[in-house]
Amino acid sequence: MAATPSTMKAVVIEKTGGTEVLQYKTDVAVSEPKEGEVLIKNDFLGVNFIDTYFRSGLYPAPGFPYILGREGAGTVVKLGSGAVQNLQIGDQVVWMGERGYAEYTVTPAAKAIKLPSSLSTKVAAAALLQGLTALTFIREAHAVKKDDWVLVHAAAGGTGLWLVQLLKAVGAKIIGTASTEEKIALATKAGATHMINYSKEDVKSKVLELTNGEGCIAIFDGVGKDTFDLSLELVARKGSLISFGNASGAVPPVTIARLSAKNARLMRPTLFGYIATREEFEQYTNELLSFVADGKIDVRIHEVYPLSEVKRAQEDLEGRKTTGKLLLDPSK
Ligand code: NDP
Repeated sequence: MAATPSTMKAVVIEKTGGTEVLQYKTDVAVSEPKEGEVLIKNDFLGVNFIDTYFRSGLYPAPGFPYILGREGAGTVVKLGSGAVQNLQIGDQVVWMGERGYAEYTVTPAAKAIKLPSSLSTKVAAAALLQGLTALTFIREAHAVKKDDWVLVHAAAGGTGLWLVQLLKAVGAKIIGTASTEEKIALATKAGATHMINYSKEDVKSKVLELTNGEGCIAIFDGVGKDTFDLSLELVARKGSLISFGNASGAVPPVTIARLSAKNARLMRPTLFGYIATREEFEQYTNELLSFVADGKIDVRIHEVYPLSEVKRAQEDLEGRKTTGKLLLDPSK
């Protein structure tokens, strides 16, 4: 294996703002793994909406300069002292952590999982964060059962396509929303029972018609500000509104009395709260990767962008131009 260089390509922010604050650099220092950490040479990096929140300042970065990016896949090239989890130099892994938009990432060994030989780093990087979000949320945020009516907003997005496919496997009746006919077709193919084009159809009357006026027992809403009120109107008696993102902006403060009309539950979960321990992370990730390796899930990749074109990638994601997963190739 070639020696690790001292500098690398990476995308750094020194302040918050629009995509103009994303700085592609070719001389960023490669960090050394400390105790319990590993250094990974990334093949592919996942782009997620959360990266745009840290860039814009909606979520506070721990300090500047900061490297965005929460997941990737590649090869272990160095072990810190006492790096556990049976990882060895040369292992292909998928990881979740920080400082992802880079050729090399140091991450705790506990946050890296060795890949089965049947799975490529490309597919693994595309699957991890959004797949785990969907899997943990339909198990733990609201345990969805067969024949439940479930509403998924932005059903053709990265997380949305995962939700649709996993909910279909459970046997739920899935109503999805999306903004274009191309997205509707994609989510229908993924398994949605009914799709609604929310840029031109009346979602409320359609959902009530489909559910005999009762609404949905679980609503997965990653759109946030623009759909929150609608989602609350459409949650069934004793149902759950799982509000988990801010694609259209953050949901303003809510008066809890609004939940009483239907004895509804409102939850604002994060994936990280469900995979905080090594056991949780390992169990869910191995399960997810086996779904993919066994061909039970189609991991749709929208485009692999060169790392140097990260601005275009984030603009496409924020501009609602994408379906499925966006990846970055750190070698370019
Ligand atoms: P997506 O691929 O789903 O992209 C976002 C989609 O949201 C768009 O394609 C668009 O679909 C829809 N959307 C609706 N209104 C807007 C708007 N005003 N601006 C932009 N997009 C809009 O992204 P991700 O899968 O990465 O993330 C989806 C959501 O899930 C995000 O809110 C993200 O923060 C959240 N999330 C939360 C996690 C957690 O732990 N809580 C973990 C992972 C994701 P359409 O055109 O069909 O409306």
